[in-house]
Amino acid sequence: MTPLAAQLATQIAATGPMSLGEYMAACLMHPEHGYYASRDPFGAGGDFVTAPEISQMFGELVGLCLAQCWLDQGAPAPFVLAELGPGRGTLMADLLRATRAVPGFHNALRLHLVETSPTLREVQAATLGHGDVTWCDRVEDLPDMPLYLVANEFFDALPIRQFQRSGTGWRERVVGLEGDGLSLGLGPEAPRPELDHRLGDTSEGDIVETCAPGTVIAAEIGARIADRGGAALIVDYGDWHALGDTFQAVAGHAPTNPLAAPGMADLTAHVDFEALALAATPAAYSRLCPQGTFLARLGIGARAEALAQGLSGAALDSHMAAFRRLTGADEMGTLFKVLGLMPPGTAPPPGLDP
Ligand code: SAH
Repeated sequence: MTPLAAQLATQIAATGPMSLGEYMAACLMHPEHGYYASRDPFGAGGDFVTAPEISQMFGELVGLCLAQCWLDQGAPAPFVLAELGPGRGTLMADLLRATRAVPGFHNALRLHLVETSPTLREVQAATLGHGDVTWCDRVEDLPDMPLYLVANEFFDALPIRQFQRSGTGWRERVVGLEGDGLSLGLGPEAPRPELDHRLGDTSEGDIVETCAPGTVIAAEIGARIADRGGAALIVDYGDWHALGDTFQAVAGHAPTNPLAAPGMADLTAHVDFEALALAATPAAYSRLCPQGTFLARLGIGARAEALAQGLSGAALDSHMAAFRRLTGADEMGTLFKVLGLMPPGTAPPPGLDP
């Protein structure tokens, strides 16, 4: 048993089963034993590899996309450039390098990173320097200015709850105890007014997921963009209008049982982009776009060729493999999606459709 498993078992024995949301929050963000709070899980030696860690092209194109939004909105100054859950800071480093040539952009930007993990804040500081970066815990803490924001594989790490359809009510999936170990069970049937809109598209036994922390964050971002201007790019795996159990655990690049070793595995769930887009009202939102299509429209093909010119041998092979991994239909190209948020009545960020 991990130390966190023992702690959670004691808590459940005392106060009863906990929601998946509570369980996920403890596993990921517990100050001592939490997965993100205590380690740097990214890269070949870690548990998973994210798009910015695969190739510099990802952060570069995201940066140029946001800079174009900024130019199209009349280059407001100053403005907040923000990233949610920046991991190692790699995306932001590539974004900043690629936008250096955009006149006025660097002078006007105020860089803010929303990150709760002290360990990862240190890694980000090592990548980006302490100088011009401000860290905060919540989107609400960002200064009140036009907001240009990116979040890659952030929303999938937020705690979800699951509900199983039972008649016209729902039973929550909860973490309880079986013998000494943690086990998944179902809470009592209860009406859930907040899920009334899912009664029409679900049948007995179906599971729906909610992510209240995600919709609260999307609402805050949307309100700011509608009020002050700006744009947001939200990149993650998931779909428009989610249905079913997508709760999963990964450790050492392989799927594992989410209850097996709390705090030692990455826990995620697919993102319901519809819920985020609707929560972001009054901001407008783009059509959901596959990552491969988005990157192709922003010119990743030409950028990949330009970078390939200076490479040969193994470096060239790995560059081409990275390109395929980001864009390929059987790789991240269709699994990952991009949602844009923008002020009402304006065009979506480059690469996305209205
Ligand atoms: N965007 C990065 C890392 C994604 S992993 C990349 O693409 O490589 C998720 C990141 O979100 C981590 O940095 C984690 O510490 C952070 N995080 C998770 N939950 C958070 C929360 N509620 N508030 C702020 N940061 C959070």
